[in-house]
Amino acid sequence: MSMISTDRKIAIHPTQHSRLSGIDLETVVFGRVFSDHMFVMDYRDGQWQQPVIEPYGKMEMSPALITLHYGQSIFEGQKAYRSDNGHVSIFRPKDNIARMNRSAHRMCMPEIPEDIFLEGMTELVRMDHKWIPRDAEGALYIRPFMYASDEYVGVRPSDTYRFIIFTCPVRGYYKDAVRVKIETEYSRAFPGGTGAAKCSGNYASSLYPAKLAADKGFHQILWTDGETHEYFEESGTMNVFFRIGDTLMTPETSGTILEGITRDSIIRIAKQEGIDMQVRRVSVAEVTDAIRKGTLKEAFGAGTAATIAHIASIAYGNEEYTLPNLAESSFSNHVAKVLDDIRRGRTADPFGWMLDVGV
Ligand SMILES: *Cc1c(COP(=O)(O)O)cnc(C)c1O
Repeated sequence: MSMISTDRKIAIHPTQHSRLSGIDLETVVFGRVFSDHMFVMDYRDGQWQQPVIEPYGKMEMSPALITLHYGQSIFEGQKAYRSDNGHVSIFRPKDNIARMNRSAHRMCMPEIPEDIFLEGMTELVRMDHKWIPRDAEGALYIRPFMYASDEYVGVRPSDTYRFIIFTCPVRGYYKDAVRVKIETEYSRAFPGGTGAAKCSGNYASSLYPAKLAADKGFHQILWTDGETHEYFEESGTMNVFFRIGDTLMTPETSGTILEGITRDSIIRIAKQEGIDMQVRRVSVAEVTDAIRKGTLKEAFGAGTAATIAHIASIAYGNEEYTLPNLAESSFSNHVAKVLDDIRRGRTADPFGWMLDVGV
């Protein structure tokens, strides 16, 4: 664990009316409840201005806000956890900051200095750590985002931006294993596109194919490559893993796949645990073959919100293949537990992933 210290000044205006006492943290629904404060920093005249932490609340905006029309907007998602001994730590914050800046670069937006980003996020979590539910899966979900704030109707990079971080108390996420459908018509991403950036437009364009799948009873889409639809890319808004025999595999990222931090953590843990971990193209043919032969042992999505979402069945064309019931000894449950133990401070933190915010 490490602590940060920096002398950059954030103007802090704490709320005089905390909303916490009116919230039942044991029943909060993911993404619906917002903690007391938010971090706000504007960009204009070619530089970032004085950052502030102020009460979470509504903002006024122009109908001509450039981001509303042309979607120059990016975000991140990460979590702070309370350990069993009461310390609060953020999981791999610098990795999210680096990814946000890669997204910013792709979307022609200014990068955010790592030190101020990290200090703002850490201070925010420190101020609102009491919002973390006591639930075994309780956490503070952290949502940094940046949008183009010029009042202008025209397609060009904005001159001004607003960067905000707010947090949400969250409990567990998807509970049941999901039914997924291999998508062979629509694409989430394509070579040269924005698949590797966490930009808003990627999610808007996935809604329609996801709705068509939901109309047929599927919870998620298994996205395939946009050119041939023969290779797996992601599962909904999560990265995807398959276990065939005793080999765990996940598609390699090469511009069309979002580089998940949960994905990277699972790869590192699997390697450390001596699991045969392959990062390479994974074809629809080999997975459907393995299902028919009974060698596909498990398949799951991986991402910050749920950590792991087990896949119950995979539909391809007119066939729907049911996966075996998960054994207690599944790889996915094992790596999820190793990850959770690190996050909750139950074991050492061999990779240096946790940043203690000091409360
Ligand atoms: C955010 C995201 C993921 C998961 O990334 P994590 O860092 O593990 O939360 C995977 N795929 C898409 C499309 C995403 O937006």
